[in-house]
Amino acid sequence: MGAIKKVVIAGGGTAGWIVAAALSKKLGDVLDITLVESEDIGTIGVGEATIPPIRVFHRLLQIDEQEFMRATSATFKLGISFENWKNGDDTYIHSFGKTGRETWLADFIHFWLKAKEIGFAGDFGDYCYELQAAQKNKFGLSKNSEINYAYHLDATRYAQFLRKMSEASGARRLEGKIASVQQNNDTGYIESLTLENGEIIEGDLFIDCTGFHGLLIEKTLHTGYEDWGHWLPCNTAVAVQTESVGPAVPYTRSIAHHAGWRWRIPLQHRVGNGLVYSSDYMSDDEAVSTLLSSVEGKTLTEPRLIKYRTGRRRKIWNKNCVALGLSSGFIEPLESTSIHLFIMGITRLMQLFPFSGIEPSLVDEFNAETSKELEMVRDFIILHYKVTERNDSSFWQYCRNMDVPEKLARRIELFKSSALAFQREGELFRVDSWTQVMLGQGITPQSYHHLVELMSASELQNMLTGLDGSIAKAVEMLPTHQEFVDNYCKA
Ligand code: FAD
Repeated sequence: MGAIKKVVIAGGGTAGWIVAAALSKKLGDVLDITLVESEDIGTIGVGEATIPPIRVFHRLLQIDEQEFMRATSATFKLGISFENWKNGDDTYIHSFGKTGRETWLADFIHFWLKAKEIGFAGDFGDYCYELQAAQKNKFGLSKNSEINYAYHLDATRYAQFLRKMSEASGARRLEGKIASVQQNNDTGYIESLTLENGEIIEGDLFIDCTGFHGLLIEKTLHTGYEDWGHWLPCNTAVAVQTESVGPAVPYTRSIAHHAGWRWRIPLQHRVGNGLVYSSDYMSDDEAVSTLLSSVEGKTLTEPRLIKYRTGRRRKIWNKNCVALGLSSGFIEPLESTSIHLFIMGITRLMQLFPFSGIEPSLVDEFNAETSKELEMVRDFIILHYKVTERNDSSFWQYCRNMDVPEKLARRIELFKSSALAFQREGELFRVDSWTQVMLGQGITPQSYHHLVELMSASELQNMLTGLDGSIAKAVEMLPTHQEFVDNYCKA
């Protein structure tokens, strides 16, 4: 294969347009970029909660935050409220913030566990600014206090926003259904796509963003799929949009039910709702009626059923095709990681871009790093199902008794015995995330680090009171989330 000049993106959902925006903005001078999408086929229309690294990506693309938020009717997100995950009647927030203060020897949890034992510690979340702000429906941005946040956004408007940006940076959009894909007889590399109207689009590198269709990576290249359904048994979602009935809260809600969970994502102009479930334990009819009876506000759309298989393609980059977005696989939406993962994918592809030709070493590096990243995210999601006291349905009995990947099993044991959590190199979820979820889902560690014994009870109490007090004061001064959105980025 010679030099790569012509990049063809198949599909124009969130993935396709993120890829087009990144490539055109950063490598548009040296690449010829074409995106093909079909209005008849449409996009999946869900995927509206994000995580903080999206802000770094936006900065890279010089996206103005207020303009983006107005255009996508976005709100702020400080974390996820997990409801009924531990025992069916409980709530904890997995926030994006840092909890307490750690030393190089021991994380904050160790100090907190000792204070709890003595009897003066508040809830673990009392020592996290973002979590406290979320609980009180507050939000604000100021130069003096850092706050870690992400967005809830309208997926369709986000794709339109990115399309405008990509076209302004030189990407070309073609409307039409891809009817066939032509491969080189000797190498199997993709040479061109033919649209239903007969138009032929030739390319050197093809990015498959055709969503669950996997038109290039699977239907053409037969790459194969690794199924993770035995660890993540939910395989269906039903989604519906509703009118807003009150101020938007600055967090996603994830409410567990007897066969999965339900999401609620507040935007400025409406709310996105969905029920995620395992079809082995809940029928589609029951799912639709459960969702419709639990949403607040008038429905704006018909309930939409989405079937999926949790897992990933055996190779995300195969020959001259890279799959990004749902075509590459799917880890269910519990921690809103999908958009992040394909942002990481396109970033990695730009770093390893095969300007002078596709080399096996580039492909291998890309695939190895991507696999590692996906597996670490997968394990964090499995954790939510495995660590639970729920025993009230066959679904939860299956989850709590299932075998989990060995690395995850070791992590759970380590936290149980010694309150130790860690972040591996390149891992998305930090110590704070692992700790909040493991505590929130019901693990009480049996011991803590000896270092905390060096601190007297009164020193410990002063530290916690100081932290708690300064967080409460800072949160008190914030406007409500709705007030801030109305002033800052009203759509
Ligand atoms: P799609 O949106 O399906 O786009 C596919 C594109 O390919 C479309 O433009 C289509 O027209 C085109 N296409 C397909 N076939 C052809 C053809 N033959 N010819 C021409 N064009 C074609 N992610 C998050 O980060 N946060 C979330 O909260 C979240 N929630 C989710 C909830 C559910 C239930 C599901 C299933 C996913 C969720 N995701 C979430 C994932 C997120 O929705 C997707 O990652 C994101 O929307 C990207 O989708 P996509 O662009 O890969 O696919």
